[in-house]
Amino acid sequence: MQSNIDASAMRRMNRATVLKLVRDMRTTSRIDISQMTGLNKATVSNIVDELIAEQLVVEIGYGSSSGGRKPILLRFNGNAAYAIGLDVQLSHVTTVVCNIRGESVYRRVSQIPRGETADDARGHIVEVIVDEIRQAMDAAPDSPYGIVGACVAFPGMVNFQSGIVYYLPNTFLGEWDIRSELAGQIPIPLYFENDANCGVWNEFVGQGTRLKNIVYINAGIGVGAGMVIDGKLYRGRDGIAGEFGHMTIHPMGASCMCGGYGCWEEYASERSLLRYLRESGEADPKLSPDTSVMEQALTQAQRDNRAYIRALHALGQNLGFGIANILNALNPDEIVLGGSIVGAATFLLPEIDRVLKHRALLMNKRVPVRMGSVNAVAVGASSLVVHEVLFASAGESFSIPASDL
Ligand SMILES: [Zn+2]
Repeated sequence: MQSNIDASAMRRMNRATVLKLVRDMRTTSRIDISQMTGLNKATVSNIVDELIAEQLVVEIGYGSSSGGRKPILLRFNGNAAYAIGLDVQLSHVTTVVCNIRGESVYRRVSQIPRGETADDARGHIVEVIVDEIRQAMDAAPDSPYGIVGACVAFPGMVNFQSGIVYYLPNTFLGEWDIRSELAGQIPIPLYFENDANCGVWNEFVGQGTRLKNIVYINAGIGVGAGMVIDGKLYRGRDGIAGEFGHMTIHPMGASCMCGGYGCWEEYASERSLLRYLRESGEADPKLSPDTSVMEQALTQAQRDNRAYIRALHALGQNLGFGIANILNALNPDEIVLGGSIVGAATFLLPEIDRVLKHRALLMNKRVPVRMGSVNAVAVGASSLVVHEVLFASAGESFSIPASDL
């Protein structure tokens, strides 16, 4: 019995490895796959035939040969299935439908009504999630596999395995079993993940998995980070790794909802902008509750309102302090920034660079720090579903020649 289990696990692993290789190469052939993976030709042929029958792989004609028979070229069928990704940011949600190559075919942004109490707020979040997933399912194109699942990203502590949310900034601290709450309301597999983990996954997959060490910092209502280390999403023991937002940067600083003081999140998130505005001379900032603080600060700064520019600069410097700590601790290939700060790049990045010049160690000064795309989290959430369904059991990575990417 044991050997049967091992054989089927091995087969799943080989299948995922072959499919991943076909996905990551522009085109490939059975013989190339055999050479690159070390799997024998008969095994590769069986797996490829199965993947073709399932329409995950297609044959697209003959390649050139250096002697002997011309190989049949294979290509990954990105439209064989679709997945849904949601980026829930408490006041609004961005929903995308992407094919299994991560190409977006649908995007929608909806507001989430504010709740008087934490229970109200969670009720609204659940209602909007159900509604958004149903609409996205209706909007997805027809495909051989249909929709393989949906992943909901939250700006807080979430355990991917259990689907339990532990913390949402300004909203919730405890144990919220959202998976059970949604069970029966959505007819496809559901996954839950931290937003920055989805963001970093989007960067990792979007760049063809070439950079193996990436940190994605999502700064908006809170500050969180996702890490790909050695080509794997690092979640930690309880699934809550990357909470750099709660590292202390001022031991006697502002109190945080987590129970600590001087957490980075209190200095580098959107809500700290209000404090910087007051400190920079705008005693009574007139901010509308209907638009995000970041958007309003940006509009004012672009109109050359000095108080708002100073506030954004203060935010940039404080982002820089935390980024320097992360760079020095992890020495990654790159750091990508996401969340509502993306739009304010021109005000924030020069300040971040200025801090890093002094605080990042040696080679860490040369690590690129850049802004990501606005849809990174939602698209990354859908990519995580695809990974779980199709690729999670793949074996160790193989190296693909740069010319084939
Ligand atoms: Zn904290």
